[in-house]
Amino acid sequence: MELSFAGRRALVTGAGKGIGRSVAVALRAAGAQVIALSRSPEDLESLSRECPGVETLCVDLGDWSATEAALCNIGAVDLLVNNAGVALLQPFLDVTREAFDRSFDVNVRAVVLVSQIVARQMIERGVGGAIVNVSSQASQVALQEHAVYCATKGALDMMTKVMALELGPKKIRVNCVNPTVVMTDMGRANWSDAQKAAPMLNRIPLGRFAEVDDVVHSVLFLLSDKSAMITGACLPVDGGFLVT
Ligand code: NAP
Repeated sequence: MELSFAGRRALVTGAGKGIGRSVAVALRAAGAQVIALSRSPEDLESLSRECPGVETLCVDLGDWSATEAALCNIGAVDLLVNNAGVALLQPFLDVTREAFDRSFDVNVRAVVLVSQIVARQMIERGVGGAIVNVSSQASQVALQEHAVYCATKGALDMMTKVMALELGPKKIRVNCVNPTVVMTDMGRANWSDAQKAAPMLNRIPLGRFAEVDDVVHSVLFLLSDKSAMITGACLPVDGGFLVT
């Protein structure tokens, strides 16, 4: 299925590394104008070299005021991918206020702010659009040391559904993807230990972790007109992990 995003302008958060970077590159290759937002300037510089023509925005999404300022002149955006996220793993009894606040600020609060800014201009322009939030299988299943991360992704799933409910009449579709472990920097940091990974892998009927492209393809499908009747969905990209 060939997808074309010619004539569309897309904003991808967390586009410096991992899934977000690959989504940005794939959208550009499919003809979209792409704004890549991330935190580390060196990642955005290397993305610009890899993918000429991509616009870049460097901001820490955990900072509400800085994010508002960075996005105030963003212009027309038709497609938004809220991908930036942090996974700060701690046993429940050791959860710190700092990790809790940082996780919710980046994984949930920033999604509200960025989506408000983008959705308001979609509504003003009367064009509609599509938003994809990158959630996780951890939104729906308890994982050791993931109390805060699971809670942020559970919140993101419900945020997605309410956004779909309220923005649907404005022709804005909102969905999320819920990947299993993906071997990005985040995935490697948390799942490289073979002993830790084995029980998780054993619960995945397809017997492997996700590749970045598995997630990218699902995100692009949900952004595209091929999913024109899909909104409010949480699409597992988990090799079947959530069926057990
Ligand atoms: P990653 O490799 O760690 O990349 C995350 C990207 O987001 C980085 O470019 C990072 O920039 C950026 N970012 C993080 N915090 C930010 C902030 N406050 N402001 C701006 N940019 C920020 O992560 P990933 O594995 O690609 O994960 C992407 C999304 O997928 C996340 O929402 C994650 O929860 C979700 N997910 C991942 C997995 C997995 O196993 N990898 C599984 C399920 C869901 P810096 O590096 O400069 O901070």
